[in-house]
Parts: sequence; C-alpha cells; structure tokens
Amino acid sequence: MMEEQGFDSLPLSQSLPLSQDSFRQLWETVVTPSISTIPHEPISVNDVEYAMNHGPMDMLLMNEQVLTEGFNENLFELPPEMSAQDSVTPPASTVPVTTDYPGEYGFQLRFQKSGTAKSVTSTFSELLNKLYCQLAKTSPVEVLVSKEPPAGAIIRATAVYKKTEHVAEVVRRCPHHQNEDAAADHRSHLIRVEGSQRAQYFEDLHTKRQSVTVPYEPPQLGSEMTTILLSFMCNSSCMGGMNRRPILTILTLETPEGLVLGRRCFEVRVCACPGRDRKTEEENNTKMQNGTKQTKKRKSAPVPDSTSVKKSKSTSSAEEEDKEVFVLNVRGRERFEMLKKINDGLELLDKESKTKSKVKQEFAVPSSGKRLLQRGERSDSE
Ligand SMILES: [Zn+2]
Repeated sequence: MMEEQGFDSLPLSQSLPLSQDSFRQLWETVVTPSISTIPHEPISVNDVEYAMNHGPMDMLLMNEQVLTEGFNENLFELPPEMSAQDSVTPPASTVPVTTDYPGEYGFQLRFQKSGTAKSVTSTFSELLNKLYCQLAKTSPVEVLVSKEPPAGAIIRATAVYKKTEHVAEVVRRCPHHQNEDAAADHRSHLIRVEGSQRAQYFEDLHTKRQSVTVPYEPPQLGSEMTTILLSFMCNSSCMGGMNRRPILTILTLETPEGLVLGRRCFEVRVCACPGRDRKTEEENNTKMQNGTKQTKKRKSAPVPDSTSVKKSKSTSSAEEEDKEVFVLNVRGRERFEMLKKINDGLELLDKESKTKSKVKQEFAVPSSGKRLLQRGERSDSE
C-alpha cells in the first residue's frame, strides 16, 4: 500500500512524457522526498520504471506472502511433544482440518484394488472416497510423495466424525471393545498402525483427540510408494462408540516438529461385509445421481436401456419390457435434441415394423432359399 501511495504522489508520471528537459533536470524531478518512501535501495530511473511497471505485481507477491504467513496450516496440528505435555490450542475451537492438501511433497494415498467380493476384508471405493473394512483387519494404504520429505518425517492418522453435528466429539472405541482389550495402553484408540514397532499413540491433553504416528519410510528400491497398515478397532455400528456415525480418517505427512507437509482424508466404514456395503453404497450413489440430479455422470443412465434393448432382440417376452419407460437426463440441449431424434427414429421404426411385420417376413423368405408359398403357409399356422 505504501508503495502505491508513494507512486501516486509522484509528479513523475505526469511530467515524464511531456518533459523535454535534459536527463539531469529529469533526474532532479524524480528524486523528490516522496520517492524515498519506496523501499527500493538505490533509486534510479530504471528502478522507478520498474516500479511503475511492476508495482502492482510486487504488491501481489507481498500479499501472497502475507497470506501464506497468515494462514497457518498447522493451526490445529500440535507437535507430538506438545500434545503429550501441554497444549496452547483452546479445546473448544479445535476441529481437525479435513481438506486434501498434497503440499510441496505431493502427498498422495492409493488403495489396493480389492473389488467387492463377499470375502474381501478391506476395499476402497474411488467413487465415494471411502474405505470399507472389517473390524481389526488390516487395510494397506499406499503413501506416495513426489519428492523426499525431510529426515524424520512422520505420518499421522486421526479419526474425526464426518458430520458437523458430531465433529466436536472425539472418536474413540466403544466401552465394550476397550474392556475386551485391557492389555494395550492404547486400547481406547480406534485407529492402529500394524506391523511397525515404531508406531506411537497420542492423546491431546486438551482436546483428547487421539492419533497414531509412524515414521515415514522412503520406498524400497524399485518401488514408488511405501505402505502403511491401518486397522480400525470398532465397527461403525458400535453402541457407545461410533454408533453408526460416519467418520473420516485424516492422514498427515508431518515434520518431526509436527509441521504439516501434506494431508489426505477419506471416509471409513467398519462393517461385517465391506464388499457388499461398498457395492450397495456405490449403486445407491449412482442411482441417486441419475434419478435426481441433472448434473449426473455421463452414460450411467442408459444402462437399463441398453440391457432392455439386448433382451428385446433375443427374447419375445421383451416386448413387454419395451413398454417400460425410462427417464434419461441429458446435459445440454444439443445432445438432448440429438438423442431425441434417435429415439423418435426408433419409435417410428417400431411402429413401422409392427404394421409391416408380416410383409417383412415374406420378404425375408427368398434369402433363406425357401419358397414364398411355404413361408406364407407357416406364418398362417402360427
Ligand atoms: Zn466397539
């Protein structure tokens, strides 16, 4: 702001184009007290010109700096040491951030393609960004980065309720499962990291939010990602625990000091039949999008149509199915008109083929090498 004001008060912008003076005279008009407010060190005409051309840009850059400095990604993330001892964050306002943030290390997650078979114990839906897994079964999560994070970086897993009305409540295991597991000192934690002796369990003193960390390990030679093994120690339906409330799992890549370098979130449902539930929820999601929203996914609606077309070709009972009416939402008038034309054409064909079906049959006879008369007799007998 000061820069801009400094400029506006410059006599330079007016006098420069009109001036026929020598450079020295020009220079003297340039070097006025007002320009000294511009924080460029040695002032020259070049500098002034530069500032005139680039002033707003400098301002932008400056603002960006202010923004990035002002927006602290780690506002709600506490370093492990602090969370173990003392927290400066007021408990009431502490809501974990659940937005994806790849950050400068391109932090990403990937899940194995497990499908929706009945036997599957853990499966991830790309469509719903949701992990379905069985209680206490291992869910491998692949962690990818675009460049090596600083030494000592950790990965932290935190669970949080998805819905706003529940988000203030800390996610922890139900009393029943906690008591069953009396041995472990982290028995109240919903999320565990398996297969690592270096997993550490934290509970924030003020917010009581629980998390588990594991050191980030660079990928093994010839591999592009590292895998961490998560398990969830309650069912989503557990009474006195999650109690059917959907949760999100937040995975953060952090420096040893707790500075967040990247963040990824996904929903989790812990249930008896992950494959079945994923399939059902994906189908419901698709149906809902087709049924209600105009901004639906391309080509998901025509599915029932195309199957009914197939059937009508092969079976005669499909004539009844043809009477079934399907509604297709189409994005864009042009596409709608085009599809309508096709449909009108098909309707017309249907009408014609019904009225001329006998004639068609007769025409078809010569190609089959049989005599017209025979065919006619047979069709009569039908
Ligand atoms: Zn439970």
